[in-house]
Amino acid sequence: MSRAIAVYCGSHSTVPRSYLDLADEVGQGIAARGWTLVWGGSAASMMGSVARATRRGGSRTIGVIPRALVDLEAADPDADELIVVDTMRERKREMDDRADAFLTLPGGLGTCEELFEVWTSRYLAMHAKPVVLLDPDDHYAGMLDWVRELHARGFVNDVALNALVVARTPEEALAACA
Ligand code: AMP
Repeated sequence: MSRAIAVYCGSHSTVPRSYLDLADEVGQGIAARGWTLVWGGSAASMMGSVARATRRGGSRTIGVIPRALVDLEAADPDADELIVVDTMRERKREMDDRADAFLTLPGGLGTCEELFEVWTSRYLAMHAKPVVLLDPDDHYAGMLDWVRELHARGFVNDVALNALVVARTPEEALAACA
C-alpha cells in the first residue's frame, strides 16, 4: 500500500557523518517501498540526506517549512512539493495530516519535540498511526530510561509506554511504519 511517512531528524550541520548515512539509508528504504516522504523541507543535514535519497530512489518528497525558517533551515529547492506555512504549529499540523506513520531518527530538541507530540497524541487515542523511533546506537538511551522511570513511578501508563516502537535498523523501523 502506498504510504506517506513523516520523518523527524536532526537539522544541524554539526551532526556526525554516520547519521547522514543513516538518514540516506532511510530515504532509500522509503523509495524502495514506493512511499512518499513528508519532512520539514530542509536541504540541510539529516533532513537533506533523507530527502535526497528518497528522490534518488524515485519517490516523492513533500516539505513543510515555516516562512521564517526558509533561509535559516535552507528550504529544499528540489522538493516535489514545498509547503510554506506561517507558524511551527501549522507545520506540524500539515505534516501530521499528510502522514500515515511517524518515524523519528536521531535528532536534537526540535526532533524530540516532534516525537513527544505524536507519541502523546497516539497514547491519548487522537490518532492510530504508528509512532516509530529508529535508534541504532543508543542516541535515545537516556530519554528511554527516563520514560521507563516515569512509568515505574506511575507518571506514564502502559498504553503510553507501548505506543512507541523502538527499532534498531532502518528495515525494522520501516516495517513498523507499514
Ligand atoms: P533539531 O532536532 O533541533 O535539529 O530540529 C529538527 C527539526 O525540527 C528542525 O527542522 C526544526 O525546525 C524542527 N522543529 C523544532 N521545533 C519544532 C516544533 N515545535 N515543531 C515542529 N518542528 C520543530
